[in-house]
Amino acid sequence: MDYGLAKVVIKDSCEKCYDCVELCPFGALGIIDGKVEQVGPCMLCGGCKALCEAIELVPLPEVKELESLDQWVGRQG
Ligand code: SF4
Ligand code: SF4
Repeated sequence: MDYGLAKVVIKDSCEKCYDCVELCPFGALGIIDGKVEQVGPCMLCGGCKALCEAIELVPLPEVKELESLDQWVGRQG
């Protein structure tokens, strides 16, 4: 799958409210067998991570050289 700019990791602490699926403006998150999973390219807007601490964004190599994810997200805002 094309992860786009980041791999989206859903932690076990996910409470399956699906707010993140609703929120993602790029349709990168979906529900598979009741679990939230990345189903499309993440544009690293940071919205889902700001919404929920059960989400971890792992930038792919091309953005890893940035000092931190927060810096990257800040540039987008
Ligand atoms: S990752 Fe967070 S926002 Fe998304 S379904 Fe799970 S608890 Fe809800
Ligand atoms: S960071 Fe933005 S684009 Fe990526 S999954 Fe979260 S809401 Fe969607």
